[in-house]
Amino acid sequence: MQTSFTLAQLADPHVAESEKILRACVHCGFCTATCPTYVLDGNELDSPRGRIYLIKDMLENDRPATAEVALHIDRCLSCLACMTTCPSGVHYMHLVDHARAHIEKTYRRPAFERLLRAALARLLPFPQRFRLILTAALAGKPFAGLAEAIGLKRLAAMLRLAPAHLPHPALAPQTFKAAGARKGRVALLAGCVNDVLAPQINAAAIRVLTRLGIDVVVAEGSGCCGSLVHHMGREGEALCQARANIDAWTALGALDAVVVTTSGCGTTVKDYGFMLRTDSTYAAKAAKVAGLTRDITEYLATLPLEPVQSGPGLVVAYHSACSLQHGQRVTRQPKELLGKLGFAVKDVPDGHLCCGSAGTYNILQPDIARRLRERKVRTIEELRPDVIAAGNIGCMTQIAAGTKLPAVHTVELIDWATGGPCPPALREYAPQTALRPNAAAS
Ligand code: SF4
Ligand code: SF4
Repeated sequence: MQTSFTLAQLADPHVAESEKILRACVHCGFCTATCPTYVLDGNELDSPRGRIYLIKDMLENDRPATAEVALHIDRCLSCLACMTTCPSGVHYMHLVDHARAHIEKTYRRPAFERLLRAALARLLPFPQRFRLILTAALAGKPFAGLAEAIGLKRLAAMLRLAPAHLPHPALAPQTFKAAGARKGRVALLAGCVNDVLAPQINAAAIRVLTRLGIDVVVAEGSGCCGSLVHHMGREGEALCQARANIDAWTALGALDAVVVTTSGCGTTVKDYGFMLRTDSTYAAKAAKVAGLTRDITEYLATLPLEPVQSGPGLVVAYHSACSLQHGQRVTRQPKELLGKLGFAVKDVPDGHLCCGSAGTYNILQPDIARRLRERKVRTIEELRPDVIAAGNIGCMTQIAAGTKLPAVHTVELIDWATGGPCPPALREYAPQTALRPNAAAS
């Protein structure tokens, strides 16, 4: 694609990077076929190619974002299916991140929208604040239908996503010692939303890792990866959260990996090197942390993992989170690990399409998110699985809100098959399953 940025514009490294990305696009349109928002409504402006044109026009003319640009960029899930499809290697993720930051700086959203976004940015990344909000949401959960009926769709979406039980306190900084001789040492990103909504995920990861001889450190000072605010274009806050994590993990000294159990966060942490490339104090440390970062399944695939007894034989519908399959290109390891441990793994048809979770998307764009969830749940239920597995808490929560089937994290099943307890969602759904022999350790 031809561009016409001036030399003065290109002196800005963010514009220069976006120009490089724009020039790689040959407007072939292959990406439209796999874009969830285009697949739903067929609007070119809600396709990757359409968004690329909007971004080009906005940046090239150095214009403040218009309501139209904000609308179509806001509807983008950042699922990155377009990046997997693109034959020209267009780095849409970095382009849309730049566009979001530009929109945030130059566009004044309607008052309610500003308030909602500010509230999400100030509450979700902080486990204690998030826990308080969830406790309140739990009381309001039965009124989700009423909220929907009177037009409060975003409130209804938030209430539906609230857990059915009181949320847990976040994991405190500490070291979980390897069982037996130590074979490695990793830092675990405890995360924010993940650890409050579903502490069983990190608990399962810690059990599996320590059982395999790995010390697991939850570092003092680490917290939200920054992706929640990053995807809202709040660059300053995102970089601040990234720097705090980099400092916390760098202070730990030698590590074999930074392990992440939420693939949305993993995609962002793996991008720290790029995000902080112009920060001379952090660029090298950020690149090092990014290079050390592994999804939990990616790391476990390098270890000698064996089932403790014959396989559980359950049929698992494996939902490949967009951030894992498109963002990190980790596709093989989760399924291979589950298969090796005795689960019958089934791919979800149209698995490249997002479930509609996408960070805060299911709150900010509840209609599109609901339609994507309904589509995803339909394809999953057709498989008639015993359980749904995913590598991202956002997907688990989003899908679970639309089906009675239990949705668990992949590492919960791995833990169960290697001597840990049956995942709580599975135990609640089918108590007889928890009595299977491999759950004896629970
Ligand atoms: S597939 Fe790639 S090159 Fe083709 S229009 Fe989409 S982004 Fe551009
Ligand atoms: S990131 Fe996803 S929703 Fe956004 S343009 Fe690409 S395919 Fe479409």
